[in-house]
Amino acid sequence: MTTSRSGSTAGRRDDLIPGDVPSALAELGVEVVGDDGDNFRIRCPAHLERTGRMDRRPSCYVHVHSGQFICFSCDWAGSFARFVAYMQGTDSARANAWIAAKGTIGRALRLLKGDERHAEVEPGEPVTEAQMVLFTTPPEAARRRRGLTLEACEQFGVRWDLERRCWILPIRNAEGTLLGWQEKSKRHFRNFPDGVEKGSALFGAHVEFDGPLVMLESPLDPVRLYSVGLQGGKATFGAHVKHEQMRLAMELSDTIVLGQDNDAAGRQSRNKLYYRYRYRGAALKFWNYLDTGAKDPGEMTGMEIWDCFEASYSPLRRKLK
Ligand SMILES: [Zn+2]
Repeated sequence: MTTSRSGSTAGRRDDLIPGDVPSALAELGVEVVGDDGDNFRIRCPAHLERTGRMDRRPSCYVHVHSGQFICFSCDWAGSFARFVAYMQGTDSARANAWIAAKGTIGRALRLLKGDERHAEVEPGEPVTEAQMVLFTTPPEAARRRRGLTLEACEQFGVRWDLERRCWILPIRNAEGTLLGWQEKSKRHFRNFPDGVEKGSALFGAHVEFDGPLVMLESPLDPVRLYSVGLQGGKATFGAHVKHEQMRLAMELSDTIVLGQDNDAAGRQSRNKLYYRYRYRGAALKFWNYLDTGAKDPGEMTGMEIWDCFEASYSPLRRKLK
């Protein structure tokens, strides 16, 4: 990846936020080709220089409020000041002066958008719904990579952190109260706040469905299932399942398909759940990985997901065969 004048710092702490992002873009001669409510979609202006190709399928997203941008194809990203500096062939001081002359968003909003959201929370201090609103709708490019539909993301309340380019997966208790969230990307994983209690949280518990409940580990997996039309997926945020999560699952359906990951920890958890809960009222089945070789259902094609789901089996019956 080349870095020339676009390779300076991704954005300084004191970079300014334009008061009116769309008109600033217009003044820079940038055409907006799409708008999902949270982001303007544009052709990446640095693409040719960075990759040797034009950005034919517009891959760059500019956040409507913060002005932060990211190209999902060439990874060019940063503050709006950085964007301005690139477009005008100038430095960040001049770019900030240009933004200031257009009118900027005050420091209070900047604090809310940047610092407050990531500020350390005292143990026991609740996170607020307002913090979720500051994240954006997951952009199309990110959803495409994981095979997730917009509707599925909205159903499960999945959000996106534009700055860190990671998924935001809300952690809610049985009553729906927000306890925190999981931040997830290939490079980054974190539960926020640190030590958030996930034992009472069944991800997607509020999403309506008919038929069996599919119990999964990672919260993106039920979103993937929903995206291919299988609506009963719920996640426990890991292989270890707490009684509260199992109790909640049994309230939601009389058939539970244990779809823990296809690895030693997943199989151990699945077997333990089976022996502990098989006479507690719900029919328990095992997700059948068949010969897919997938680690979890999130890695499967839509057809594999349905094949594996339909091949779910009762472990007892299988032993008798
Ligand atoms: Zn690009």
